[in-house]
Amino acid sequence: MTAYQQFEAHIATLSDILNSISILKWDARTQMPPGGAQTRGYQLATLSRLANEHFAGDKTARILDAVEAEIANEDPDSYRVRAVRQTREYYEIVRRIPAELTAKKAALAPISEHVWSEARQNNDFASFAPYLQQMLDLAKEQAQAIGYSNHPFDALVFEYEPSATAASLRVLFDQLKAGLLPLLQRIVANDKPLEKDLWQHEYEQDKQKAFGLEIAQRFGYDLNRGRLDIAPHPFEISFTCNDVRITTRYHKNFLPMALFGTLHETGHALYEQGVDPSLTRTALTTDFLGQYPVGGTSYGAHESQSRLWENQIGRSRAFWNVHFDRLREYFPEQLADADADLFFRSVNRVRPSLIRVEADEVTYNLHIMLRVEIEMGLLDGSIQVQDLPEIWNAKMQEYLGITPPDDRRGVLQDVHWSGGGFGSFPGYTVGNVMSAQFLDAAHRDVSGLDDALARGDYASLLGWLQSNIYRHGRAYSATELLQRTSGSDLQVKPYLTYLENKFTEVYAL
Ligand code: ZN
Repeated sequence: MTAYQQFEAHIATLSDILNSISILKWDARTQMPPGGAQTRGYQLATLSRLANEHFAGDKTARILDAVEAEIANEDPDSYRVRAVRQTREYYEIVRRIPAELTAKKAALAPISEHVWSEARQNNDFASFAPYLQQMLDLAKEQAQAIGYSNHPFDALVFEYEPSATAASLRVLFDQLKAGLLPLLQRIVANDKPLEKDLWQHEYEQDKQKAFGLEIAQRFGYDLNRGRLDIAPHPFEISFTCNDVRITTRYHKNFLPMALFGTLHETGHALYEQGVDPSLTRTALTTDFLGQYPVGGTSYGAHESQSRLWENQIGRSRAFWNVHFDRLREYFPEQLADADADLFFRSVNRVRPSLIRVEADEVTYNLHIMLRVEIEMGLLDGSIQVQDLPEIWNAKMQEYLGITPPDDRRGVLQDVHWSGGGFGSFPGYTVGNVMSAQFLDAAHRDVSGLDDALARGDYASLLGWLQSNIYRHGRAYSATELLQRTSGSDLQVKPYLTYLENKFTEVYAL
């Protein structure tokens, strides 16, 4: 056996354990009866411990030493060398995090999440504050252990968005705000109610599901290697490119919830199903830190694909010009006196609102910036936990012009901080920005793409995304993917231009 074969076998075992953890998590969130929770917790803890022992142990160091010597003269750009280099990078990070810290965090997270969920229900921030403080202290410890040169946030955001830092995000946010805030003001000033409210009708759930799946398959989602289930907090999860599952949730009136939820998760799934099968069970599809969606290169890169298919395709006028009649075949009475134009405008309403997950394309990033700025402040000590509700509400007023009437719909709305997930929010906004750069690059490379999209033909777009992004798995960083396709780093201009053009049309600005 060569050293490289040994390395591959070692990582394949880790990949199998991590994918088994994912299957148990999928089951827990979609199928498991409530009584299974406690034993499922033991199963997950055992497998996580085995995965960590397997990867963080000295054996990995010996395997890496041997394989690094063996491939020393190979092309530094090859998949083989990239796989080894990435594994070394993550190994050194994992080794810096003390086992006691990981154990403390793992033990506290479920308790803290439970307290948060009760606190949210009771609108009682004070009861959650001490747990948030403990999770924050552990996050700070982890940042110290990993190390950083400028801001503790840099050490934590690396898990999710390796190309980002506190400093780069501040620049990105300032550029975005300069475009988004004036656009939002113009929209609010021009807002008037639509002729008809399409969401006062009831839409049968089985038909909602059938239409969503029909479109998902048209986009290219392969049900031989996928399935759609219901989950209260929708997600996509994959256990190699051969089994990529999505979930959504249904509202009997508000049709967009399940439909765009399905298309969003389909975008994630197309990424996973599009990874080159030769990368299955290798380092280039293995999630060393237990955080990323498995196949993709970063949260942002993954989110760029869910946003692209959900918003830039699924909420476009071209899309509804092609597909509205088909939707009306499913719901002839509900949509009897609607047309593609009204539907397009109905699914692109912009309104400053309290809840991030319900936000539209224009206001969504403002919700993210608020969270990231607060996280940075918590980590560097410029914001104290007990002041959070007040700071949250002040920022909501500043960015969105509204103040939450209670903490339930304010600082308590997201689960992320209760589980210690500091650093995960920027991926949403980075993904939005990336999605416009990728789509511009596809338009430049694929002739007749507009015509194909206007016909409801998504094969050429999917083909371009597969060969330029998906098939590489985690081989290239988000920045490398942007440079290889668009010729530049992360740029806000294409995204702001996209929003400006779209909402100028929607609101006749
Ligand atoms: Zn997503």
